[in-house]
Amino acid sequence: MSLKNLEKRRGVMLVLSSPSGAGKTTLTRRLLENDPQIVSSVSATTREARPGEVHGKDYFFISHDRFKDMVDNSEFLEHANVFDNRYGTPRGPVMEALKSGKDIIFDIDWQGTQQLAESAADDLVRVFILPPSIGDLEKRLRSRAQDSDAVVEKRMARSADEISHWSEYDYVLVNDNVDATFQKLVHILEAERLKRRRRIGLSDFARELMEEGRKR
Ligand code: 5GP
Repeated sequence: MSLKNLEKRRGVMLVLSSPSGAGKTTLTRRLLENDPQIVSSVSATTREARPGEVHGKDYFFISHDRFKDMVDNSEFLEHANVFDNRYGTPRGPVMEALKSGKDIIFDIDWQGTQQLAESAADDLVRVFILPPSIGDLEKRLRSRAQDSDAVVEKRMARSADEISHWSEYDYVLVNDNVDATFQKLVHILEAERLKRRRRIGLSDFARELMEEGRKR
């Protein structure tokens, strides 16, 4: 009996959504650092890069014209307008990652999540991160010091809209302690990886077990 195919499974498409400032970026980074099985989807956006952001790593920073071309050529798995800018998930790298047996994490908003739910429901695991309070959210946005006051105001104004979609997600985590929230995320991923429908290597193994069992 061979155990070598036992680990073979379909990749998880893990979506993390939250209002800006709820800690999603930190959680994503930790997950990527701790787990070689998971890779990140790098979105394209028309917004300006913030200080420290790297083209090709944090985002592909592209022009409105280039974004439109990509939409017209169906190069996005999903795309949406957020804060007057356009954001989209390039299709190619996601397909490649899943084919090679990797899990993939998406930092996208509720609009993109709804679109993925229509096209890839079986592979999707949706996690929503809530802040412990609105005051905490604002504090984190201001301490990030990457955005102007006007941009912070805009993000705060949009947070209620983002939060209003919390019930469309499979899991909801209140991020009052980043270590504890991270552990919960790890457990979610672990359990989802074990789901029977993803375990494509399991049927042969189970069949062999049954055949051998019947011979006894
Ligand atoms: P930020 O400008 O702070 O990096 O991102 C703003 C919002 O856009 C966040 O809620 C983030 O999750 C969302 N976002 C980033 N990339 C994408 C994407 O490719 N598609 C969609 N639908 N939303 C995205």
